[in-house]
Amino acid sequence: MNLDVTAYYKGYHGDLNETFAVGKVDDESRKLVRTAYECMMMAIEQTKPGMPFAEIGMIIGRYAKRNGFSVDKTYCGHGINTLFHTAPTIPHYAHNNTSGSMKAGNIFTIEPMINAGGHEDRCWPDEWTVVTRDGKRSAQFEHTILISEAGHEILTARNESSNPLWFL
Ligand code: MN
Ligand code: MN
Repeated sequence: MNLDVTAYYKGYHGDLNETFAVGKVDDESRKLVRTAYECMMMAIEQTKPGMPFAEIGMIIGRYAKRNGFSVDKTYCGHGINTLFHTAPTIPHYAHNNTSGSMKAGNIFTIEPMINAGGHEDRCWPDEWTVVTRDGKRSAQFEHTILISEAGHEILTARNESSNPLWFL
């Protein structure tokens, strides 16, 4: 189960999500969730002024593929500030042609959906529920990132009282 939480404070939005297990989880599903988290964190660790936004997808796509998983192409990270979803749109898959590079002061999300099967998804007739086309499992994590002169800051980072991540 994925919980996606948004904050709205003094006119600014924050956005994060994590995937949780319900009941006993098989090893492959645990690996899927761990890989989704690692994909997000590996991309975040590289963010700094001058990094092309397209590079995020290269890092995530390469690591997902190495683990036998695919990356959803429909849903993207996004700029976030006084608007909840704004430019830039940040694909998580390799060989995307999104333009632009990071600058200090940019705030955006990284939120890859990693699939156990193919990358294709479809939306139910309720126009809200999205599932994988092959019915296999998917996992997602999200953080809101601020690019700083020194590199980056995770604005939605866990703190010392947060529960440990269950899948590590
Ligand atoms: Mn988001
Ligand atoms: Mn979100």
